[in-house]
Amino acid sequence: MKFAVLFSVLLLVSLFSIQSSFGEESSIFCKDGKVLVYRVNAEKYACLNPPTAENWYQSGIAEPVDEITSTDSEMNTNTLHPEKMVSSAPLPKSSLGPQIDYSKGYLVEEIRDGIFWVTDGAYNTMFLTTGQGVIAVDAPPSIGTNYLKAIKEVTDEPITHVIYSHSHIDHIGSASMFPANATIISHLWTAEQLKIRNDPNRPLPTITFEDKFTLEVGTQKLELEYHGPIHDPGNIFIYAPQQKVLMLVDVVFPGWVPFKDLALAEDVPSFIYAHDKILEYDFETFVGGHVTKLGTPKDVKIQKEYFDDIQKNAGIANLQVDFMEIGQKVGFENLWLVFQIYADTITQQCTDAVVPQWIDRLGGADLFTYDHCWKISESQRID
Ligand SMILES: [Zn+2]
Repeated sequence: MKFAVLFSVLLLVSLFSIQSSFGEESSIFCKDGKVLVYRVNAEKYACLNPPTAENWYQSGIAEPVDEITSTDSEMNTNTLHPEKMVSSAPLPKSSLGPQIDYSKGYLVEEIRDGIFWVTDGAYNTMFLTTGQGVIAVDAPPSIGTNYLKAIKEVTDEPITHVIYSHSHIDHIGSASMFPANATIISHLWTAEQLKIRNDPNRPLPTITFEDKFTLEVGTQKLELEYHGPIHDPGNIFIYAPQQKVLMLVDVVFPGWVPFKDLALAEDVPSFIYAHDKILEYDFETFVGGHVTKLGTPKDVKIQKEYFDDIQKNAGIANLQVDFMEIGQKVGFENLWLVFQIYADTITQQCTDAVVPQWIDRLGGADLFTYDHCWKISESQRID
């Protein structure tokens, strides 16, 4: 009898220890209430917030993982990186913009009091009717001559003024379609770059400025200001005080993370600082030049929070990852190999911490956070 009791106790203890070791084992893989899912196409695992996991199941790109089998437990941390998966996560609803009639190719809508925005779903820009002629900002080639159609759709006024947000082709490369007698305004450095590029599709500006320029035409007023080389030397803030509309191109991407490497920003500290500078303006609508929709101050604050998160986690990774330790493991013969593993370890640690927090909030967080972590962590080491 005694033996039977002892045996039962031992069985219970051993069952309990199996249970607890299983619990510990599974908690190694997913923390903070996240669930482990299996990505069918990518053949990889990911830790996700439960609502995201549910989304992924419904779209068929992931399956629930009921229990951790012996094969699963052999997986190392390399299989847990959602950002390395080829297929992308479902987009959060907040990243979706208005429906575009793709047979027409563009959407034109009045924002307020004579300011209109035009979009093809990937690029966007704005123009103003003034009573004395149209002020057109930028000329993205993806929208091309549909921009002229969009203007014609809402006004008979001729295009008298053109503003360049910055020098890049993908935003002003169709500017030669505007009337040759239109006044073109840009920052001095944009003009300097365009002289070197010598591109007939980007006619040289007729008016340039260094710090500030106020353009008043008919009923409309625009304040153009330069706050440093955030994205490109010469990229300007274009502000309509009457309508409380602010345009700054290639910096804030409403509903989405920016394109790779901080959208190719030339100066990382300026790019970070730009978020505060934007929020100093009294605006209600933000025109960012890209993605599916217009923005609000809330979108700017959300992107700022995203980069605060990246800065924090890149900083932690920079402190924790030990260059000498990596060098001792792989040897110092090939110095670039040590640097590559060192940089990748830091970038990956930052990415792993940031992606799960943002995958539900910003479109493309699973795709470009790695690149942003790389840019920010490198900037923290050198700037
Ligand atoms: Zn650009």
